Amino acid sequence: MFTMPTAVNTKTVYRFGAGSAEGDASMKHLLGGKGANLAEMCRLGIPVPAGFTITTEACNLYAQHGRDFALQLLDQEVRAGVAFIEQEMGKKFGDHTDPLLLSVRSGARASMPGMMDTILNLGLNDEAVAGLIAKSGNARFAWDSYRRFIQMYGDVVMGLKPVSKEDHDPFEILIEMVKEERGLKLDTELSAADLQELVARFKALIRARLGRDFPTDPWEQLWGAVVAVFESWNNERARVYRALNEIPESWGTAVNVQAMVFGNLGDSSATGVAFTRDAGTGEDLFNGEFLVNAQGEDVVAGIRTPQQVSLEGARRWAQLARVSEAERKARYPALEELMPTVYQQLIDAETALENHYQDMQDVEFTIQEGKLWMLQTRTGKRTGAAMVRIAMEMLRQGMIQEKTALQRVDPARLDELLHPVFDQEAVQQANIVARGLPASPGAATGQIVFFADEAEEWVKKGRQVILVRLETSPEDLRGMSVAKGILTARGGMTSHAAVVARGMGKCCISGAGAIQVDYKNRTMRVEDTVYHEGDWISLNGSTGEVYAGQIPTQAAELSGDFGALMQLADRYMRMEVRANADTPEEAAVARRFGATGIGLCRTEHMFFEGDRILAVREMILADDEAGRRRALVKLLPMQRGDFEGLFREMDGLPVTIRLLDPPLHEFIPQDEAGQLTMAQEMRVPLGKIKMRVEALHEFNPMMGHRGCRLGITFPEITEMQTRAILEAALNMQEKGVHARPEIMIPLVGTVREFDAQAAVIQKTAETVFAERGQRIHFLLGTMIETPRAALVADSIGAKAAFFSFGTNDLTQMTLGFSRDDANSFLPDYLKQGIYERDPFRSIDQKGVGQLVEMGVRKGRAARPELEIGVCGEHGGDPASVRFFYRAGLNYVSCSPFRVPIARLAAAQAAAQEGA
Ligand code: PEP
Ligand code: MG
Repeated sequence: MFTMPTAVNTKTVYRFGAGSAEGDASMKHLLGGKGANLAEMCRLGIPVPAGFTITTEACNLYAQHGRDFALQLLDQEVRAGVAFIEQEMGKKFGDHTDPLLLSVRSGARASMPGMMDTILNLGLNDEAVAGLIAKSGNARFAWDSYRRFIQMYGDVVMGLKPVSKEDHDPFEILIEMVKEERGLKLDTELSAADLQELVARFKALIRARLGRDFPTDPWEQLWGAVVAVFESWNNERARVYRALNEIPESWGTAVNVQAMVFGNLGDSSATGVAFTRDAGTGEDLFNGEFLVNAQGEDVVAGIRTPQQVSLEGARRWAQLARVSEAERKARYPALEELMPTVYQQLIDAETALENHYQDMQDVEFTIQEGKLWMLQTRTGKRTGAAMVRIAMEMLRQGMIQEKTALQRVDPARLDELLHPVFDQEAVQQANIVARGLPASPGAATGQIVFFADEAEEWVKKGRQVILVRLETSPEDLRGMSVAKGILTARGGMTSHAAVVARGMGKCCISGAGAIQVDYKNRTMRVEDTVYHEGDWISLNGSTGEVYAGQIPTQAAELSGDFGALMQLADRYMRMEVRANADTPEEAAVARRFGATGIGLCRTEHMFFEGDRILAVREMILADDEAGRRRALVKLLPMQRGDFEGLFREMDGLPVTIRLLDPPLHEFIPQDEAGQLTMAQEMRVPLGKIKMRVEALHEFNPMMGHRGCRLGITFPEITEMQTRAILEAALNMQEKGVHARPEIMIPLVGTVREFDAQAAVIQKTAETVFAERGQRIHFLLGTMIETPRAALVADSIGAKAAFFSFGTNDLTQMTLGFSRDDANSFLPDYLKQGIYERDPFRSIDQKGVGQLVEMGVRKGRAARPELEIGVCGEHGGDPASVRFFYRAGLNYVSCSPFRVPIARLAAAQAAAQEGA
């Protein structure tokens, strides 16, 4: 005899049925998610087939004490539970005339989709099947139910699996055999007699393979199924899933035993799925699909055309499908027309469920001989647009509070509202030919060009182009800006192409490794297919999918709800959002999206505009300081003009301008043809250019002569840029613009670098102010983007007015992962879970995050009023934004199109904290 362990909740079975339940939604720990929700639906008076849930505690006791103990523990309560179902449903388990059939499903506390198993139609045997035939008058249905049951039970409970991984499912092999013998193609063509034959063969297979018979006693079947669900908690799939999702083994799974209902018992039966609001647009319109005389899987199988539940939905569907009203009414009537009473019950149920859960629900229902049964309710998945509309409408309808509305929208999904999207129908017909990184969102379609200058020429002729490159460099900037989209074979999420495209709000896929670019022949090869210059391709920068051919796109509309959501976000936000913008146009977009300043202007991007690249190259080729100064004088007015545009657009808001950062070789063509053109344009010998290219060559340019190191060796560059910034600010001030310049020194690692550059900047400022006879207030700060800068942030903080974390470089240097080359191994790292997320996209909180926290702490210790922001790509990533908020930053800065995303993420972080 076993003795009960003490301190155990001895109640192991919780019933649910018409209008009442022993459990409720709060009991997910004990009843699992599914069981708790089924109980809750019953409590709301929603018609749910009666059933009971065996607790997760029972599962744990099974694991500890074994089968005999568990069955003894459960025996009485499960028997009483089945009696309860019999009474509720008016049928008897194992009955020969009108048998009660059961479903047995697992259901853990956390959703573990597809991890554990389900058994349907339990209770069937040779006598009960006769009862089902008699009751339903449908022999085919009854035999089909029976063979499905044996198949599921044989697999899940009896363990009849394929012999080896190359083998097919043994039951499916038998089905194929019978179909072949009868000359049939589809399962649906099998007759009642065929299915009866299959039942016999299935049983024979079980006997032959296992040496025992398929159990005919319904109770034996039930206990077998319950034990199998307990066992499934520890199967290989479930263990792996738990490990990946940090679900403790101790949670256990509940077992849900529920009466089966059938939607395929004739023309007064049906089955369907529905949404309480439109999952695509968010419109407050109940909608869904159903099929008369069908089983759940028929609706998704796509063999028959499902009908619409509501009349309004049916009319809209007919219009889209070009079906006349007369034909629609005759062939595709709505449930509302066909079964008005049941439809009204369905409306009552969906309204009650949405009101109760206060969110859009996705429901499954079955109508059995005129009676409605709800089988499931869960929060419905939806598009980004629907997410915003539903949240804001529910707020206006008084269903939810402001903070809930804010949290209901996934910031990352706002992207879908900001960029062009593919025409829905057209994209379904299109072929995906390759995949890369979703570097910059939106949809683009155009003709392939391989060279930036040709992109410009083609666009001038009125064509739309996709620029395809191995990788891009600053030289390609103009071509990139006119292209509809950019595709590169190499590079990661912070590659040049990715960063620049995001800034431009332009669709970009980077690191599409399957693509072989052949510049010489002007082709792009993907496996055996060759695409030529001029061929059409399409890119989805939000997913990284590359399509062959032309797919029409639509501009995104910013709906009123979107604006309202952003206003709501601003009321909660306690951290500012600035933008990374290099041009007045980008600044204007950023301001429209609600940026409260520019957090990073990368001045080098301006070096490629118009003819100024010639002056830049002249500076690089100069033999001495005097030569460099002559070239810089030419650059000065151009840069000043750029900055004036930025100050004008950002009137009243801070504009952080970073001094020159990239290594100089980036401004000189690396290929001979380019060098030849340069030699001709500048009237210098090719040999001189080659020598300079060689002199500038570095093995690790990212850790080479760049950032403030340039300004240290060539202070005249810092001088020129400071002058351009301050003269521009003074010019704008004279015109009544409130210019707020912030000068930022890149890549500092020691306070001495900061001091050296600060001295040049201050001296230049005083000279300019003296020349002009007027002053302007400006801030002088630094980027924190080398690990050392974070480590000595106190000494730097004593001197700098602001810090801006350059988390792109900080990540690169802390992890030792090259920003440009990491994509060769990073996908494997992510697949194996070595890093959970791309650290260049979402900040590595445990590692790099510590440097950020330390930088903040040390910086503020030296200067409590220190302004601190971040301007790496992470500034637009919602999870990173939440981290930066907790770290105490004053602002994040991100590309203009991510500004709304960052605003919402910042608001969510603040609202959550205040909750
Ligand atoms: C950074 O390193 O995070 C940064 C913003 O600078 P860049 O990307 O231009 O190196
Ligand atoms: Mg940097």
